[in-house]
Amino acid sequence: MAIRVRNALAQVANPKTGRNIIADGLVQGLTTNDDGKVRFALEVAGGSAGDADMLLAAAKKAALAVDGVSAVAAVATAHSAAPSPTGGHDNPLGVRKKPQIEQAAEAMAGVKHVIAIASGKGGVGKSTVAANLAVALAAAGYKTGLLDADIYGPSLPTLFGLKDKATVRDGKILPVEAHGVRAMSIGMLVDPDQALAWRGPMVMGALRQLMSDVDWGTLDVMLVDTPPGTGDAHLSLIQSKRLTGAVIVSTPQEMALADVRRGVALFRKTETPILGVIENMAWLETPDGERHYVFGKGGATRVAQELGAPFLGAVPLYPELREASDAGAPLAGGDHPAVKTFAQIADKIIAAIQGATGSTAE
Ligand code: ADP
Repeated sequence: MAIRVRNALAQVANPKTGRNIIADGLVQGLTTNDDGKVRFALEVAGGSAGDADMLLAAAKKAALAVDGVSAVAAVATAHSAAPSPTGGHDNPLGVRKKPQIEQAAEAMAGVKHVIAIASGKGGVGKSTVAANLAVALAAAGYKTGLLDADIYGPSLPTLFGLKDKATVRDGKILPVEAHGVRAMSIGMLVDPDQALAWRGPMVMGALRQLMSDVDWGTLDVMLVDTPPGTGDAHLSLIQSKRLTGAVIVSTPQEMALADVRRGVALFRKTETPILGVIENMAWLETPDGERHYVFGKGGATRVAQELGAPFLGAVPLYPELREASDAGAPLAGGDHPAVKTFAQIADKIIAAIQGATGSTAE
């Protein structure tokens, strides 16, 4: 079927070159599955947002017309060349008008608070913490969404045990309901290996679509698991003007903390509230109750102080947490201490939201 879809897409003209979108290499990450679901990203550099939307619509229509295709999830990695609505390197803080980003913000009108979960570097457990916090917030009665925007290593499909790819209804991508959370991952739309090669504007375009083309409905809180460091994904979130604030996850060791200090600069510059710092992998407790501070002690508390941000709590190293993550079944309910830890941190995040905005998350 992939070949037939490819042939169909080769019938879609690229008005800019007079050739077609396949010949011009605009279609990336084309995948099909046995259920007839088709996914691809359409790289449309330059041109207006309207042009990009029209080309995307034409490509979707062509793919959908292929026999056996039941649904098409396509992401336009579109951006206008001049001036760039997603902010090029010449426009890092988004001083120009951002029509596409504003559109994304409008589409999430039902979402009360958008919180970026960020880290200075990878491997500190940011995604694990984001997923478990989302489950904890949902368990506390908040309508919660989780958007895995970690383009370079989407982990939500693994963490939440989501095997299916995204479904599309009436032109909107439907989030998946899992573990009480409305969830969507870039990994459910495009092949992660493909996304790895994306350049800045494509990352921004994809994130914009995750915000605007997904039917998020009404939510009290949406956690956005962002790529490590601060880059294009964070910038798009900031430009959407929907970000209530950022929560930083770090391990206690100095090296990770140095990256946090660097990483928060963008949030600082754009006056995005840092809602707090979470210390992950804080210690390992032996069966006799002795704590081993594998990565050093109390480092994240110090950084929180330095940043003038609340310390939201420490999550110890729990082998069961890693096992649960790998098994795609987050620890929820039950009497594992991690459940209580995440519930307490979730409470503090709600309090921090109230502190930063003066409004409640309910
Ligand atoms: P990041 O999103 O920062 O790259 P991940 O969430 O993917 O990091 O976590 C990296 C690895 O560490 C995963 O295998 C995860 O299961 C494990 N992990 C994260 N936090 C903990 C923890 N508190 N206890 C045990 N394992 C953890």
